[in-house]
Amino acid sequence: MLNIILMGPPGAGKGTAATWIKEDFSLPHISTGDMFREAMASNSPLGKQIKDIVDNGGLVNDELTCALVKERLSRKDCQNGYLLDGFPRTEAQAEALKKMGEEIGRPVTLAINLTCPDEVLISRVTTRRVCPKCGASYNVITLKPLKEGICDHCGSALIQRKDDNEASFKVRLENYYRSTAPLLDYYKKEGLLHEFDGTLSMSNLKVEISAFLRSYL
Ligand code: AMP
Repeated sequence: MLNIILMGPPGAGKGTAATWIKEDFSLPHISTGDMFREAMASNSPLGKQIKDIVDNGGLVNDELTCALVKERLSRKDCQNGYLLDGFPRTEAQAEALKKMGEEIGRPVTLAINLTCPDEVLISRVTTRRVCPKCGASYNVITLKPLKEGICDHCGSALIQRKDDNEASFKVRLENYYRSTAPLLDYYKKEGLLHEFDGTLSMSNLKVEISAFLRSYL
């Protein structure tokens, strides 16, 4: 069963990889970052509570984040697998996920990590543009939309994420190395970790990860 967590620093390409993994393997894509951005866009109580934290690159508290993921994972569409993107990000979240997985009978089966050096990450993040409607990701240098500033998939105007600036990126990267990178060891010890080179072109990365996932099925 493909119960996948997609790991890697901000800008490693998790969101982009998720767009084709979810299609090719018919998995529900659960991105905590997307969930938080939706809450902020709709100005819900949750959105208001987390806005400053997310915009400045901080981490939303574990309790809130785990409750959201637990509710989402218990839905029917996760019965045949799932693709978690951006969760877990802390040791407490990894432990909570292990417990949730046992409770719902769907433990993590693969941790896919995209590696990428810091200098590539910063340049990718600051030149990234995203579609606020369908979540598609572009880059003003390496992955331009067909029509400038417009999403190829749904025609919406592209935006730059508020946290895709140098100051917020620095905080996100620090949080990554402090809280998230240690989880790689945790999943390695569990025998679940598989690493891929996030600097590969999107098409080459797709070939490598798809072949691996097919061999795993
Ligand atoms: P992402 O789209 O994964 O880069 O996430 C965007 C932002 O949402 C992060 O910088 C955090 O502020 C917040 N966020 C996403 N996932 C988590 C998580 N698992 N734990 C805490 N905060 C998160």
